[in-house]
Amino acid sequence: MLPMEVLERAQSEMLSYGDSGMSVMEMSHRTPEFEEILHGAESALRELMSIPDNYKVLFLQGGASTQFAAVPLNLLSSHKCADYVVSGQFSKKAYLEAKKYGDVVIAASSAGASPTFSTVPVTTKSSFRPDADYVHICFNNTIYGTKFNYIPDTENIPLVADMSSCICSEPIDVSRFGLIYAGAQKNIAPAGLTIVIVREDLIGSAREDTPAMLDYKLMADNDSMYNTPPCWCIYMAKLVFEWILSIGGLEEMKRRNEKKASLLYDYLDGQKYYTAPVDRKCRSIMNVVFVTGDAELDKKFAKEAAEAGLKNLKGHRSVGGMRASIYNAMPYEGVVALVEFMKKFAQENPKLGSDEL
Ligand code: PMP
Repeated sequence: MLPMEVLERAQSEMLSYGDSGMSVMEMSHRTPEFEEILHGAESALRELMSIPDNYKVLFLQGGASTQFAAVPLNLLSSHKCADYVVSGQFSKKAYLEAKKYGDVVIAASSAGASPTFSTVPVTTKSSFRPDADYVHICFNNTIYGTKFNYIPDTENIPLVADMSSCICSEPIDVSRFGLIYAGAQKNIAPAGLTIVIVREDLIGSAREDTPAMLDYKLMADNDSMYNTPPCWCIYMAKLVFEWILSIGGLEEMKRRNEKKASLLYDYLDGQKYYTAPVDRKCRSIMNVVFVTGDAELDKKFAKEAAEAGLKNLKGHRSVGGMRASIYNAMPYEGVVALVEFMKKFAQENPKLGSDEL
């Protein structure tokens, strides 16, 4: 979802941005109007996330998946080795991609948890090789509904985090990370934009054969405009950042997100019809996973929920069950409606041998 206020603002500027006589969709990126949009988006994000001055903000394309390759190409510089924490499908994909470029190992994994990836691995600084060029984590595991409840201590090794499904959902100390990347399509803008926030000293040591489009230095030196950037997405991102600032910034965003997530988790914890299979200590506040324990009932749930206007509740095809993605723009009322539907569904579909109804 995108915030209604943002969609309305975009609608009001759709045919002519300011007095340009053009839609942002029609605009060349080499215009003063677009430069103002790009710089406005960057400064709003810097303010929102309190990004220190020694970090660059890049507006790129290719989705988070392209960063799975860009990160090792740029950062495997000194020892050509990196350590990955595998806590779900995307961190596994990131690891498999990075392995093509150097000595890359899994330092910790929660694949063996039951159910698989229902928790995040606990790490200490001794989990990582002292000569690793970086450590990679996925901060919020979209498919499994888990989130790191701590920032791994990597001592002096730069920590790289995929924050695709939690960026801007709560305050985060950017200075604890060497690099943060995120596909924009969950919390920031329509699909097509990828944000990279990278500490300056990590820029400029890319492998010689790094494709130009993946070279952070080239992108930083050209202000994310080495080629045509995703202009419309950057414009929408600016509106979203300004919207979050207008409601009170990331502290307020966190308060709203926790309120929504608590409503759902409290309901799940207070009944027995549905099960939340995730370790309570690392429950995501963005993606809430639950199951009935019966695959046919799960299917029926997702179908009837969609008919009732509650869309996209089917869990990822690799895990099944249900997943409520309650990103920033989902209003509290949306979660209230979901919980009401869950109660009604449980009443109308008693499970054999179930004593809770
Ligand atoms: N990482 C995470 C945590 C994700 O949730 C996703 C997409 N759902 C990706 C990476 C892949 O992102 P993209 O589709 O932008 O390549």
